[in-house]
Amino acid sequence: MFLTDAPLVERRQVARDMWVLGFAAPDIAASVKAGQFVNIGMRPGPLLRRPFSVYRAGDDRIEVLLKAVGVGTAQMLAMREGDVASCLGPLGRGFDLTLSAKTVSLVSGGLGVAPMPLAARDARAAGLQVTWVHGARTADELCSETEGDEVILATDDGSAGFAGTVVAAAPDADLVLACGPNRMRAPKALSTSPRTSTGRRCRLTCPMP
Ligand SMILES: Cc1cc2nc3c(=O)[nH]c(=O)nc-3n(C[C@H](O)[C@H](O)[C@H](O)COP(=O)(O)OP(=O)(O)OC[C@H]3O[C@@H](n4cnc5c(N)ncnc54)[C@H](O)[C@@H]3O)c2cc1C
Repeated sequence: MFLTDAPLVERRQVARDMWVLGFAAPDIAASVKAGQFVNIGMRPGPLLRRPFSVYRAGDDRIEVLLKAVGVGTAQMLAMREGDVASCLGPLGRGFDLTLSAKTVSLVSGGLGVAPMPLAARDARAAGLQVTWVHGARTADELCSETEGDEVILATDDGSAGFAGTVVAAAPDADLVLACGPNRMRAPKALSTSPRTSTGRRCRLTCPMP
């Protein structure tokens, strides 16, 4: 785990109200694995650090994905290149991709896409075939960046991709990594949970960001 003053080096919009911020944080970038997060603090700023999944990592930088929901996220989105945030991480155990699986579905709803690019990177490195399944309420809320060997998009209102939920759109796979709103974890959604090649049900979930 590292504590570092990380300058903002990039900022880009990936959906309506959804942004990616890139911070120079070489030690965290070199050690973070899929599903881990960083705690970000600002001075001046809120007393408590705010947790964010690492979206991508590499080239001495980490990226986080966020939308403004309160004082901390609004302050982060007001940062300009060169402004410095304090980053603590990587934190959390991350996803376990060592399970005996050949295929993985990365299923995300809305901001739940935050840990998925890193999951796709690590899954590919582990030799898994990656299906990217991402959904939102409507087309302009879909994250514009995708990964994986196959990409399936879904919208609740049918304005892009599959008309319906990401859970309904997700194909069978040995392993499912899911992150998104609580309704993705409703009993009916979970009953669609696939089995691994060894016959075990296997679904790893992430807290709603
Ligand atoms: C492990 C982990 C990973 C996460 N990863 C991500 C991520 O990758 N991307 C991401 O965007 N988020 C992520 N989150 C969530 C993120 O940390 C929070 O959204 C963030 O801390 C909010 O900070 P804030 O200061 O902007 O909001 P706060 O001001 O702390 O507000 C938090 C919530 O309370 C509500 N609220 C605030 N003030 C009021 C009020 N007066 N009345 C009613 N409601 C109010 C806000 O609308 C908001 O929903 C993650 C959380 C965890 C635990």
